[in-house]
Amino acid sequence: MAVQLTLLLGAASLAHAQTAVNSARVWPAPDHTRLVLDLGSSVEHSVFALENPSRLVIDIKDTSLKVALDRLDLDGSPIKRIRSARRNGNDLRVVLDLASDVKPRSFQLAPNQEYGHRLVVDLINENAPAQKPSSKPVLSESNDSKRDIIVMIDAGHGGEDPGASGPGGTREKDVVLKLAHQLKDAISSIPGYTAKLTRDGDYYIDLRSRTLLARKENADLFISVHADAFRTSQPRGASVFALSQRGATSETARWLARNENRSDLIGGVGGVSLGDKNEVLAGVLLDLSMTASINASVGVGSYVLRNLGSVATLHKPGVEQAAFVVLKSPDIPSILVEAGFISNPQEERKLLSASYRSKLAHAISRGVQSYFNDTPPPGTYLAWQKRQGKSAGGLSSYRVQRGDTLSDLARRNATTVSRIKQLNGLKGDQVVIGQTIKIPTT
Ligand SMILES: [Zn+2]
Repeated sequence: MAVQLTLLLGAASLAHAQTAVNSARVWPAPDHTRLVLDLGSSVEHSVFALENPSRLVIDIKDTSLKVALDRLDLDGSPIKRIRSARRNGNDLRVVLDLASDVKPRSFQLAPNQEYGHRLVVDLINENAPAQKPSSKPVLSESNDSKRDIIVMIDAGHGGEDPGASGPGGTREKDVVLKLAHQLKDAISSIPGYTAKLTRDGDYYIDLRSRTLLARKENADLFISVHADAFRTSQPRGASVFALSQRGATSETARWLARNENRSDLIGGVGGVSLGDKNEVLAGVLLDLSMTASINASVGVGSYVLRNLGSVATLHKPGVEQAAFVVLKSPDIPSILVEAGFISNPQEERKLLSASYRSKLAHAISRGVQSYFNDTPPPGTYLAWQKRQGKSAGGLSSYRVQRGDTLSDLARRNATTVSRIKQLNGLKGDQVVIGQTIKIPTT
């Protein structure tokens, strides 16, 4: 009786659930590789690893294969070869031959605007070079330490998450990565600044991990770069966001609920550890840090927005506030820049232009520079310089980049060619890449 019942159920599930793998993609990232299988429907599956030699086996019930998995580009991934076979008549077994052991993780994704049902298999490389522990001493910065200001730049979306897309087919994840690179170059060219990227390729990083990367690098500022979209094509212009107080309040509760986070938090606020404080006091300290971060974020956001206004249309006249997850670092000022509306055909075209993106990048970087000139973080080169009175008289240093001309530099800094020449004792109109010159600050 029992045997018969099993057979009947087996036949029933076979009748309605047969589906296929229609296509597949591989997204290599520094610490993991993501394999995505496009399916006609959700499936039952299991994944397990085998050693000597390293393999990963993916079993999918009632599924056939309609794509040549051996044609996938495996470059940059630990996968050496992909094989497949039928199992039990109706099931599919996919075997990944691996160059090294990995920790697998798998889950299914529901359809979105770009893809249908997906089975995602992450191959996590547990031996990936760990994030270097920071060398920046938080509590014992001496009066003459001269560390760089660290700016973490986060290109939104990536990999399986394309973000918004424009009428011409431009994808947000691609255009913001290009802008992020340009912004990194612009900021790193300022003496005393180092900019880093959360992602440097077409892969996805979850939102909490992006803020964690900023914490691990002891970032002084976090900038997430995006492009907006709306269902109609009219809206346009750039915007800058900071975290809203409401988003912050729920975040405070979340941090307090997670005891293990307490001790490593607030290192930046007088080195106060929350671990040994009672709930009420811990809440007050965390609120203070969060409120200070929001105020700083709105501050830096205003400088950035003002500078963006000189090269782009602005969507709103002031810094907006919302509960974006990537802005929820309790102790790192964080802003989110929407570079324009990708859903607006003119702005889509502009965002595709390297020279327009360069203008945006320099405008954002000028905003960041003005903000930190006013309030240099303790222990930084900028703070030291300010103490030495070297920036007295409103001068800043700038390292010349490829493509810079004196007239560009003059225009970007609201000064004149002759003033820059006079300040730097330049005879001709030529500047050399890498040369550091003095520029009057406005
Ligand atoms: Zn976005």
